[in-house]
Amino acid sequence: MQPSSRLDQLPPYLFAELERKIGEKKAAGVDVISLGIGDPDTPTPELVVSALAEAARDPGTHRYPSNRGRPELREALARFYGRRFGVELDADTEIVPALGAKECIFNLNLAFLDPDSIALAADPGYPVYTGGPLLAGAEAVLMPLLPERGFAPDLDAIGGEVAERARLLYLNYPNNPTGAIVPEGLFERAVEFGREHGVLIVHDASYTETTFEGYVAPSFLETPGAREVGVEVFSLSKGWNMTGWRSAAIMGNADAVAAYWKLKTNIDSGMFE
Ligand SMILES: *Cc1c(COP(=O)(O)O)cnc(C)c1O
Repeated sequence: MQPSSRLDQLPPYLFAELERKIGEKKAAGVDVISLGIGDPDTPTPELVVSALAEAARDPGTHRYPSNRGRPELREALARFYGRRFGVELDADTEIVPALGAKECIFNLNLAFLDPDSIALAADPGYPVYTGGPLLAGAEAVLMPLLPERGFAPDLDAIGGEVAERARLLYLNYPNNPTGAIVPEGLFERAVEFGREHGVLIVHDASYTETTFEGYVAPSFLETPGAREVGVEVFSLSKGWNMTGWRSAAIMGNADAVAAYWKLKTNIDSGMFE
């Protein structure tokens, strides 16, 4: 038996490694506070749980799902984006449900990267921004997030060959793990960068609904021009205590959404109806 060489390039998944270390400490009798994987420790809202319980009894949900996602779900997501962010999306062409932000981000790498291309990934950042490009046979180039820049990557520092080979740029605000909110002007600069270099901007919006002290986080798609060059990956996981439900969506540029969907139909069969 010989696993593929692409697996050799991957470091052990960070959170699996942390889990192992925590297990060791606990076994040694240490009272550990985990700063590993972020997972809400309160239950999913009752409304959601009872809707699923009811839907699970309906034989209409028992067959293969529609691979574009239920129209009712896409329309509800479009209404939510309109109400919450003032962003009007076309539910037929600009939204596809995903089996969690992780699936979506990983598959965007397969959909957009060739062996000589680059994904620009924040450092520190979510492991899939770097593991995904490697598994796609491409390269991840790290953009340092420094406190003196408000944890914004310095897009002016990315030029030459790296900018030419770049196809994807990952942003994530409110940011994990720094806790930073989006610095003034970064989304606008990212739109310019996307236009200049033909790079798809991917905003991971996992934490827009998890903010404090009255701060209300924007959507990247509110930025003028964002939909020409980018997509947002929106997730129910953190905002609604639904990490186990694997429920997210890609929203934004219709061509990028179509490319993601084309790839995805070859990989999974969609979300439980
Ligand atoms: C938790 C997390 C995700 C994964 O979200 P899912 O929708 O559960 O896959 C993606 N990005 C960041 C930054 C996260 O913290």
